[in-house]
Amino acid sequence: MNSVIRQAAFRRNFSSNSIVNGFTGAVGNTPLIYLKGLSEKTGVHVYGKAEFQNPGGSVKDRAALGVVLDAEERGLLKAGGTVVEGTAGNTGIGLAHVCRARGYKCVIYMPNTQSQEKIDLLKMLGADVRPVPAVAYENPANYNHQARDYAKDLPNAIWTDQFDNTANANAHYTSTGPEIWEQTQGELDGFICATGTGGTLAGVGKYLKEKSRGKTQVWLADPPGSVLTSYISSGGKLTERSGSSITEGIGQGRITNNLGTFINDVSGAFTVSDDKSIRMLYELLDSEGLYMGASSALNVVAAVELGLKLGKGSKVATILCDGAYRYQSRLFSRQWLESKDLLNGIPSELQKYIVL
Ligand code: PMP
Repeated sequence: MNSVIRQAAFRRNFSSNSIVNGFTGAVGNTPLIYLKGLSEKTGVHVYGKAEFQNPGGSVKDRAALGVVLDAEERGLLKAGGTVVEGTAGNTGIGLAHVCRARGYKCVIYMPNTQSQEKIDLLKMLGADVRPVPAVAYENPANYNHQARDYAKDLPNAIWTDQFDNTANANAHYTSTGPEIWEQTQGELDGFICATGTGGTLAGVGKYLKEKSRGKTQVWLADPPGSVLTSYISSGGKLTERSGSSITEGIGQGRITNNLGTFINDVSGAFTVSDDKSIRMLYELLDSEGLYMGASSALNVVAAVELGLKLGKGSKVATILCDGAYRYQSRLFSRQWLESKDLLNGIPSELQKYIVL
């Protein structure tokens, strides 16, 4: 693929309703949603980038497309080749879509603890799914290492390596960041989001900081069990992971290459409890009509908190990573919420949404 089409894949005119070229042409160019009810209630202007509107359903479509286009451009992947990744979530779904659209085989290694729905979805998207024993990252049998080793021995194959391949952050630097900048016309006091690979935060953060000449503050939000808040607050001390969260796809135990490109420019970080995230998930549904996954809800809690730090009337943007559809059997189940001790934190008037 030449660079003209690559640009076209990521740099389109927001105001046009033009026809786009296939799945990859439909990635990006998502709306920026002003969260009106929440903004009126809190006195902070909160904007959510509607990444759930990507054609594969999540923010990871951009990274998936970015790493594949980068491998093509560098001559590492040619027609009929194979894309290999170790992933249990949205990246695999994004890659499976991109591979179908561009004629590649897609091999996904994942821990064998994952739900049947996820395995089925990836298979329906044409991926070769390989469940392997769920062992720690330090163990060579970990799904990430198995993905890397399989790709290494296969001709015309790449291991996309979403955590450490900076084509991931670059996809956000060349698409998500510019889109948010144009949509807010540069009038943005803060940007904050949680990180998994760090691609979104690093790519968007770097672009916004550069364009605003440091005026837009970029913060990191963490779920419980992630080490990044303490890393940033302590000026670079890495601690052991402890604790866990109901959020999926976010939280980290190390500084990935993607995050490493930007972490020294992060203005600050804080942790958001599961209690606050789940409550926001129901509030977003009730006041905005948005049916969001837990990482999006965490991001919105964090955006409000950052806005309050920056002052009433400030403008803060964050990421609405994906919808609740992939998690609804848990997030909307009374029994599951009770088992996680989260039911009582949901105001009684919002409990009408708990129908499972
Ligand atoms: N939210 C969800 C639901 C995700 O799947 C991911 C990716 N793991 C993220 C947020 C974080 O995105 P990134 O990998 O760019 O840090």
